[in-house]
Amino acid sequence: MFDATFVRPDLGAFCRLDELGLEVVGQRLEPDRAVLACRVEPGELDRWCRRCGAEGVPRDTVTRRLAHEPFGWRPTTLLVTIRRFRCTGCRHVWRQDTGRAAEPRARLSRRALRWALEAIVCQHLTIARVAEALAVSWDTANNAVLDEGRRMLIGDPNRLDGVRVLGVDEHCVRHEALLFRMEVKDHHRFAVVAVE
Ligand SMILES: [Zn+2]
Repeated sequence: MFDATFVRPDLGAFCRLDELGLEVVGQRLEPDRAVLACRVEPGELDRWCRRCGAEGVPRDTVTRRLAHEPFGWRPTTLLVTIRRFRCTGCRHVWRQDTGRAAEPRARLSRRALRWALEAIVCQHLTIARVAEALAVSWDTANNAVLDEGRRMLIGDPNRLDGVRVLGVDEHCVRHEALLFRMEVKDHHRFAVVAVE
């Protein structure tokens, strides 16, 4: 019997923007891509100066463009409006923290990075295909994936815990001898053993 519970449609939840601390405020749908206008969910620390602790006043906004995970084969791009504040004490200027949405200076959202890694490791997509799906350049996609691989996987000292069998999937041995090795028996987790 089908007894699932439905809730109100919610574009932010559907696109998993809530996980990124973003609130969607507009959409522009084109035949070959979608653009979502977002703002950063207000944080408690937004208004307080990082240097002297005094209160800041809103100054202006800046826009950050992030590739997000695609819907089907249609790329989704986020246009994130970020508020900037100026300290009433020392005049220092800062912007809202977008660390939940993306790494500093990253061009891909955290969800997009995750999607790209899974696309390459699990679905055997090429970097070129991933770049197309994210509507970014080959270099942008490639650098993002390599950086994320190093950050998430190489940097995790427990990455091989519970792994009993290591297999090298030749489809995943790519550029610059980056070796994605998948543990295939137990957890279907990623584990990167070597990057050079
Ligand atoms: Zn200050």
